Amino acid sequence: MSVSSFGSVPLQKIHSFALSVFTTALYLPKQESEVPEAAEKATYFIGEGSNLLPLGDLSPLLSTRYLKGYSLIREDAEYVETEVAAGENWDAWVRYALSQGWYGIENLAAIPGSVGAAVVQNIGAYGVEIAPFVVGVYGWHKSLKNWQWIPAEHCQFAYRHSIFHEPAWRDRFLITRVRLRLRKYFAPVTDYSDVRAKMNPKFIHDPWYIYQLIRSIRTNKLPIRGSAGSFFKNPLLTPSQLNQLREKAPNIPAYETPEGLYKVPAAWLIDQAGLKGYKRNGAQVYPRQPLVLVNTGTATPEDIYQLALHVQSVVREKWGVLLEPEVRILPPAATGE
Ligand SMILES: Cc1cc2nc3c(=O)[nH]c(=O)nc-3n(C[C@H](O)[C@H](O)[C@H](O)COP(=O)(O)OP(=O)(O)OC[C@H]3O[C@@H](n4cnc5c(N)ncnc54)[C@H](O)[C@@H]3O)c2cc1C
Repeated sequence: MSVSSFGSVPLQKIHSFALSVFTTALYLPKQESEVPEAAEKATYFIGEGSNLLPLGDLSPLLSTRYLKGYSLIREDAEYVETEVAAGENWDAWVRYALSQGWYGIENLAAIPGSVGAAVVQNIGAYGVEIAPFVVGVYGWHKSLKNWQWIPAEHCQFAYRHSIFHEPAWRDRFLITRVRLRLRKYFAPVTDYSDVRAKMNPKFIHDPWYIYQLIRSIRTNKLPIRGSAGSFFKNPLLTPSQLNQLREKAPNIPAYETPEGLYKVPAAWLIDQAGLKGYKRNGAQVYPRQPLVLVNTGTATPEDIYQLALHVQSVVREKWGVLLEPEVRILPPAATGE
């Protein structure tokens, strides 16, 4: 196993906010046999650090980024089942799947991060989530000291949520492999408004066209570096909460979920509260996508954190809605978790 050294490992290139913070040790297992020892020593389990806000120097970390590889488990005329190591880069995997003629995840193009975290977060974009494609995950349980297979039915997938967020699992269970079931036929998902507005219907049956289209929509909206993507989740409101909000904001879009709740766009709430482009020292509400908080180059962890608190409080005051962070906030080593 590679240990990136003890004492003071810089994390600026190890997480996407690119803040100047350190960890006391970074464990980088290269194969599953090295995982139990590394997991024992690490406080936090991470992938590529693209959904984290470290509030200062961190206790030891285990990153899956060197756990690589994939294998074909089974296939029939319509489906293929593959197992992918947690440390594979998600977007590279989407491209590999497309090159093999395996479909379903092309709308999740260009989402930063690792395959393992994609399941933890139940990543989603442009009308597609990873959950329906997950057969199960395999990994090491640090507290129970055993390897476990967790079938998808037990993963408790919900909007940007899985069981791996729960205290009994977070930093206790390290996913080392993910089993995915993909289609061998292409069925484009184009009902998302951005996709519909930008697509050329002539190419709708070309999976690579959809992949590139999503990638270009994302590139126009999102900063290349210095963010963790959407800082907040889109709030899910009950019908009566939506009615209350609509008294103040009659035009707010709302999308009904299968559970009978209404998802409203957090970006709209932030934008209409006048916060687009708002700056606090080196931290800014990204002008092209107000759901994203960005390190403009000189932000400290405190700048980002205080900006997040400010956005939360302005939105709550104006709209009566509490925004919940999607990004995981990691406390500094001295205070522990
Ligand atoms: C520019 C940008 C755009 C983004 N766009 C989207 C988007 O469209 N949709 C979306 O859903 N997300 C988006 N994100 C968020 C991010 O890409 C995802 O959350 C991604 O899955 C994080 O992967 P990671 O490997 O970097 O995870 P990390 O940030 O390293 O970790 C995220 C969480 O998963 C846990 N974790 C990581 N790996 C494991 C493992 N193997 N076992 C157990 N726990 C683990 C960590 O403890 C942490 O709680 C975006 C981020 C950025 C920077």
